[in-house]
Amino acid sequence: MSAKHLLRGFDSPTRLKGEVAEQFDNLWHTGLMTERYIRNPNTKCVVCGKPIYKRPIEIKRNSKRVYCSASCYGISCRKEIPCIICGKMILSGLHKKTCSRSCANKHRTGIKYKLNRPKDKVKNYQSLKIRLLQQRGKICERCHYDKYEILQVHHKDKNRLNNNLSNLELICPNCHYEKHFLLTSWLNKKEGGQDGNARVLKTRERKL
Ligand SMILES: [Zn+2]
Ligand SMILES: [Zn+2]
Ligand SMILES: [Zn+2]
Ligand SMILES: [Zn+2]
Repeated sequence: MSAKHLLRGFDSPTRLKGEVAEQFDNLWHTGLMTERYIRNPNTKCVVCGKPIYKRPIEIKRNSKRVYCSASCYGISCRKEIPCIICGKMILSGLHKKTCSRSCANKHRTGIKYKLNRPKDKVKNYQSLKIRLLQQRGKICERCHYDKYEILQVHHKDKNRLNNNLSNLELICPNCHYEKHFLLTSWLNKKEGGQDGNARVLKTRERKL
């Protein structure tokens, strides 16, 4: 059966005009159509403000939050979050942080500033090295290698943030490599090697 057949018992929708006809078209399938279009509007859609009729019990149940249509109800369900730059409300469903291109650009400038920070790190490192060269001479503190241009700053406690002078060593790349990688070389991890056995023992101990 088509929609038109179903409507035969009611007033023909073609006789209705304008907004009422529109409402009729939207609501006929709910079965409440006749009641709704005959009654005068007694409330307003809280989203678009369109005057509508709702049964008083329905208005009471929803504490006056009534909607003219499914799309207005949908709008009322949307979650909004503030733009992190200007605070203007934006739909959270869009997964955006900013409201507009100009706010996005301002946000990006902030990020760019952060990306420049590794340059500061390089500068800090360079000034640290210059200071050590002046204080300790232009040679490796371990093997006296003297091509000072490639000497490196080693942190004894392996914490690069601890720039206490007592924690720093000015050494050549070879001595530095030795410091960091000799003990952890894969050659020392070989099964059956002395260190290998020690390592296996250690893991056994840990398991116990
Ligand atoms: Zn509405
Ligand atoms: Zn904004
Ligand atoms: Zn050295
Ligand atoms: Zn180091």
